[in-house]
Parts: sequence; structure tokens; C-alpha cells
Amino acid sequence: MPYANGPLHLGHLLESIQTDIWVRFQNQSGNECLFFCADDTHGTPVMLKAKELDISPESLVKNVQKDHINTYDLYNINFTNFHTTHSDENKKYSEEIYKSSKEDNLISKKVVNQYFDTEEGIFLSDRFIKGECPKCSSEDQYGDGCEKCGATYNSKDLINPVSVLSNSTPELRDSEHIFFDLPKKRKMLEGFLKKADIQTSVKNKLNEWMDDLRPWDISRDAPYFGFEIPNEKNKYFYVWLDAPIGYIASLANWASNNSKDINEYWSDKSDYEIVHFIGKDIAYFHCLFWPAILDSSNFKKPDSVYVHGFLTINGEKMSKSKGTGITTEDFAKHCDPELLRYYLASKLNDKVEDVDLNIEDLSQRINSDLVGKYLNIASRSSTFIEKNKGLLSSEVDKTLLKNIKNAADEIRHFYDSRQYSKAVRLIMDMADHTNKYINDKKPWKLSNNEAAEVATTATNAFRLITIYLSPILPKLTFEAFKLLGLDNQDYSNINDDLVSIKINKYEPLLQRMEALTIEQFKNEEINMSNDENSNDVNTININQFMETDLRVAKIVNAEDIEDADKLIKLTLSVGDIGTKTVFAGIKSAYKKEDLLNKMVILVNNLAARKMKFGVSEGMVLASSDDKGGIFLISPDKGAKEGQKVK
Ligand SMILES: [Zn+2]
Repeated sequence: MPYANGPLHLGHLLESIQTDIWVRFQNQSGNECLFFCADDTHGTPVMLKAKELDISPESLVKNVQKDHINTYDLYNINFTNFHTTHSDENKKYSEEIYKSSKEDNLISKKVVNQYFDTEEGIFLSDRFIKGECPKCSSEDQYGDGCEKCGATYNSKDLINPVSVLSNSTPELRDSEHIFFDLPKKRKMLEGFLKKADIQTSVKNKLNEWMDDLRPWDISRDAPYFGFEIPNEKNKYFYVWLDAPIGYIASLANWASNNSKDINEYWSDKSDYEIVHFIGKDIAYFHCLFWPAILDSSNFKKPDSVYVHGFLTINGEKMSKSKGTGITTEDFAKHCDPELLRYYLASKLNDKVEDVDLNIEDLSQRINSDLVGKYLNIASRSSTFIEKNKGLLSSEVDKTLLKNIKNAADEIRHFYDSRQYSKAVRLIMDMADHTNKYINDKKPWKLSNNEAAEVATTATNAFRLITIYLSPILPKLTFEAFKLLGLDNQDYSNINDDLVSIKINKYEPLLQRMEALTIEQFKNEEINMSNDENSNDVNTININQFMETDLRVAKIVNAEDIEDADKLIKLTLSVGDIGTKTVFAGIKSAYKKEDLLNKMVILVNNLAARKMKFGVSEGMVLASSDDKGGIFLISPDKGAKEGQKVK
């Protein structure tokens, strides 16, 4: 479930594409597989994002849901139902499941001593407190752990804690919280882990955690965006309690819209298996908390939890500042979304490994596999079929087709066990065999009749490969079947050889893809900020403006950089803040010697950006015209280095 505080990124799509391929495969294999998802909407980040945009959290999550659905459509993610955790169904089942846990004496209360932001009137979770690490004294570390030395600690141990929300010093306050007695469920969880289909590496980690089960804090104090806990005052369910119940809510929503009984699908008595696809960071929630809270209810616990790694782009974690925080929309501008499905499938396996999207490698893979191997079969065969008046011959070469048909079981096994990269490799082997078959038979040297038989055999191989590829490429394979005059086909059609019928004239289904570079997306990122604003809000409020820390700065050094035509490396003196290095794209308009001692305006809190030449720690303001002119902005005489601009 994606979180509802912003648009989807490519990392979300890794999960939905992995799942969508699996679901399509199951249905193609004769199983009934339903695919439920929802936006995960509750909690402080959504509340704060709504506040920042000056809208209600309810309208934020509504807008985000629309946006998410559009993106999923773009990438052919075929949910049975995509719902929201901020729904009546989810409220009902959250209350019900809580009540059943309470009846089983799993709920208790305890006073918690926690930081409170007096300016914002809100208790602060660890992620909203920053301070110095108690171990290594690094500044600017979160309340739960230090990114510098890796220490984890209690937020109360932070030195000089500051609220991220208001920059004020928070105070410790007592509040009564509601706890779920997780240790009481230890026996049950041990049994669950033995039985459930979860990767061994994940199970090992979970078993380690089993030695340290603690009561789980499931309440949050107002103000909070979520569901109020029944019979309590100003207490809300912690987002992680109601989020997974959103799966049930999404099913219930679909069931009621389709006159189905939810118990038939998800209850102790149902024949359906419950399978979750999740990221590696949330295994604790899905494999321990989730079965524990389900145990008192009538809902069955998951049969399988399939954990995947994260998406990296060109070997790096996705990050906006490195240009690898590519939005799903931008990606679709440069590349047919189906091709991302193919590329990711060619790399996905059943392990908890990160998957790398190498932008430069993407076009090569598509051109070599899909254009050069797969579609090439249809295009080569078409010449000879057209010479035969578009008619397939009555005979096929059984040997080649037998090989390809025999691969079906192995391909199915690879799909079913989520080893898509192995499935893709085997399918491409079949395409190689077929192309080699055409080469060996040399139909261009044969009579029209004989050539048509070779082409008919190759066309049937193409049909089989299209069946095998269809969970990954639903749109492209739909078009390919149409060429053959067929509707979608599945494994039950494997032996239905096409003979003696007319097929449609071949038209290229895919063009060779031009090479993409990561740079294209970096440029896009700069343009994107305008698009984003034009979406729904054209204005910003004063607080949003004040988030930009603009400072007067003096250029104390300017250097050219070897191999860089546009950039000058600036060293800026920013008063008390010290000096900062900024790589500015102003070389076409300024000589380095003319820049010395010039006063400029620095965006001081812009996230540092790692470039080929070093780290750029901010940005200097300039105006530009459409003739290539660049004009640095300077303050009037008398302004001092380090002064704030507001
Ligand atoms: Zn530290």
C-alpha cells in the first residue's frame, strides 16, 4: 500500500509490477486470483502535508488517491479494487478487530513519557525530533537513531532536542497510551512462522525479533489523522494498526459493490489463500503485528508474505538531489511504461535483493530482446506469409514447436515462484531458437509454399512466446494476438496450432528505443517544479516561502572546472554559517575573475547535491533571458554576509 502524502515514485512501481505480473500469471494459469490494494492514509505525515497545503487531510487523501489510480493505470496495474484506509469499511473492521483483541485481554494501558511540542500542541514521534547523537555528538540526528554512527537510542537521550515542526525545544509530558500485548502471542507467532510461506532470510530475522517482543503501542493522542478508538477520549489508532486492515476493507468494498460475501474470500473457513507482497522495511509489521491482531478475529492469517528489496536507479538509492528521484509521469514521457515492466521483470527474483534500474541499459535490453528477438520473429515471417496471400500453411514443423511447448512447465514454475528473470531468460532462449530456425531454413531460398511452412512454424512459435510474455507485457501481447486474429490466450491454448487461416498484415508493434540517459531526467526535474505547482495550487503561503533560507553571501573564490563547459565552482562566505561550495551554471555569462568579492543571494537550505565534480551545497539566485543571458542577483550596498533575505 502506498502512503498517501504524495505521488508514486518508481520504487512503488517495482512492487505493484511484481505483484501485477504474478496475479496475471495466476489467472492465466487457471487459478482465480484477486488483487486488492489501498492508499495508506493515516498518521502524522499526511496531517502535516495537508496543513502545509492548507487543505483538509480528507481532501488531500482524496486527491492523492485519484493521482495514484492514474499512475497505476498508466503502468497497466490491474487491481481488482483499489481503495483507501480512510473508509467506512476500514473503520468498521479496525474497531471490530480491536474489540476482539480486547475481549481476549490483549489490550492494556500505560502512561508514556514523551516529547511534546508546545507551539504546535502535538506529541512528537521520533522522526519529528532532532538533536545531537548521545554517542558520537553528531548534530541534526533523528530521535530514534544516528545516521552518522548507526547508534539507536531513546529520543529522551538526544542532546539539545528540537522539534522538527516548530524548531522549538519540546518538553516531556505524560500521556496514557493503549498497548497490544504482543508477548502473549509469542507461541502463536512461532507456529505462524513455521507454517507461513515467507523467504528464509526474512524468517531468520523475524525469529531473532521473537526474542524481544514487547507490548505494542497502538494509540496516538489528538491531534492525529486517523480513527478514534472506541470508548476513549482523544485517542486514535496508530496508523500501523489500521493500515493492513485496509486489505480487508478493500476486499469488503469490492464485495459489497459486486454482491459477494466477504467471508467466502477471507475468513477462517475460506478456501482462498492470502498472499502479501511487501517491501523489506515492513516485515515486522506484516509478519508479527498483523497475524497477532488477526488472531482474535475471524479473519485468517496470511498464507504467504513475499518480501522484495528496493529499487535503485543507476546503482544509487533514489534521491531527488541526485536526479534519480524520477517521477512515474516523467518516466512515462521518455519510455513506454510497458517497457519498464519488461525491464524490471528481467531483473526480478524471489530474493530480498534490491533491483537496479540502469537507465542506459534499459534501451539496450528492450532493443535486443523485444525488438531484436521477439518481434523480429513476426516481422521476418510476415514477408513469406504475405507472399502466400496472408495465408498460413496447413503444416508446421513439430520439432521446433515441441521444444517451445515443453518449456511451458518450467516457465510457469518461474512465474509462480517469482523468479521472473529466469522466466524471461528462458522465453528469450525460445525466441533465439526460433530466429536460428529461420536462419537455418533460409526461407528466402525456398519456394513460396515451402517458405510459408517455415513462416507458419515461426508464427506459431511467436504465438507461444506471446502467451509466455503476456503477464509482463499485457498491452504489447494483446496487440500481437490481434495480429494473429486471436483474443488473449493462456496456457490452455498451447496446443492450438494456427494453420490454414489468414492472419493480419504485420505492422511494427514497437519501435527501436533511443538511448536514455540519467541526465535527461535531471533536466526534467528542474522543469517539474513548475508543473507541480500548476497542478492544483498556484500560490504558496507565507510559511512555505519562509521555508527557503535565503542568505546574503560573498564570492571569495571562483574556479573553472576541467571538463565542465557551463559550471563555475564558487566558494561563498556566509557569515556565521561559514563557507559553502556551490557549482553554478554561469560560465557562459561570467568570467571567474569578475566574480571575486561579488555579493550574491544563496539558497542556504537546499539539499546538497552530489555532482561529478564534488558536492554542491546550495544555489545562487540568478535571472535569465531566452537569449542565454544570465544575471546574478545581488543585494544593495551595505548588506552583510550571512544576513537573511525575507
Ligand atoms: Zn552518532
